[in-house]
Amino acid sequence: MHKLSALFLIILLTSCSSIYDSPDKTEQTKELMGTIVTITVYHENKEEAHQAIGEAFNEIERIENILSSYKNTSEVYILNRDKKVEASNELIYTIGKSLRYGDLSRGAFDITVQPILDLYQHSFQDLKRPPTDSEIIQALRQVGYERIYIRNNNIQLEKDTKITLGGIAKGYIIDKAIITLEKNNIQHALVNAGGDMRAIGSKPDGNWNIALQNPRKEHEHIAIIPLNNTAVATSGDYERYFDDSKEFHHIIDPRTGYSATELISVTIVTHKAMDADALATSVFVLGKEEGLELIESLDGVEGLLITKEKDLVRSTGFIN
Ligand code: ADP
Ligand code: MG
Repeated sequence: MHKLSALFLIILLTSCSSIYDSPDKTEQTKELMGTIVTITVYHENKEEAHQAIGEAFNEIERIENILSSYKNTSEVYILNRDKKVEASNELIYTIGKSLRYGDLSRGAFDITVQPILDLYQHSFQDLKRPPTDSEIIQALRQVGYERIYIRNNNIQLEKDTKITLGGIAKGYIIDKAIITLEKNNIQHALVNAGGDMRAIGSKPDGNWNIALQNPRKEHEHIAIIPLNNTAVATSGDYERYFDDSKEFHHIIDPRTGYSATELISVTIVTHKAMDADALATSVFVLGKEEGLELIESLDGVEGLLITKEKDLVRSTGFIN
């Protein structure tokens, strides 16, 4: 499903283009993390800009090779296969953060949902039918982040447990790309990975402004979000369905084993992309009421939710 979804990818958030294009602008795009990644930099020295962008892309690839579930040499792949792995700092950090988001969201964010995703995939692809309630109950027995054990840099999983970092890794990698750019003397940049992004500094003509598209009407904007050294991430059921009735998609409610269906889209704005990414997935699972409560309880976090009924719900400090 991962490969397929890339073909259907909607870039929900696009950087607003302006008539004025500075000669200091350097931009490069690559296909990574199952999506399209664009790095835009404003920097006088073109050679330095190219060098910095190159290093940022190398960093993205390096960490993707550790955290991806699909690459058969990645630490996550080995962990899921062998139920143990000697982990890099990057994996330890990402899993640690995921566990904290698990607690913060009272279990809505849970990286051990992979057996449910596997069940969906097997049911729809091989058996050509939805999973049954009892199959879901059976798969749910393997789910629960208390089944992950971390001792120093050794990670172990209980039998039949599998993890996915799809709800947090992209954000973490965006942050690492930004750090790499900063280390290379870049002060004004935007890293955009398929609509999840983080900006530093500004553009010569002002803010980094991001247009949030209507997930159901591609050419309609529902908000303009100014990024002032902040990040934005969106979780939506928009295009990644397992079935035609759109009941089964890739964001799982770990409390039921079914896909979360109360919202169609959640956009989070906060300082770091990793937090925005994990919170977007968490709020998507929690739904309108509990999701908003979580956003309002956190400092420096704002959100825009779209309900199934297409109502737009903003947190109190959401600017657009
Ligand atoms: P996108 O992949 O479109 O950026 P998300 O950031 O919401 O969307 O991530 C969705 C991914 O998160 C899924 O593909 C899966 O790997 C993972 N995931 C699904 N449900 C959960 C959950 N309840 N908690 C944590 N991760 C989840
Ligand atoms: Mg996410």
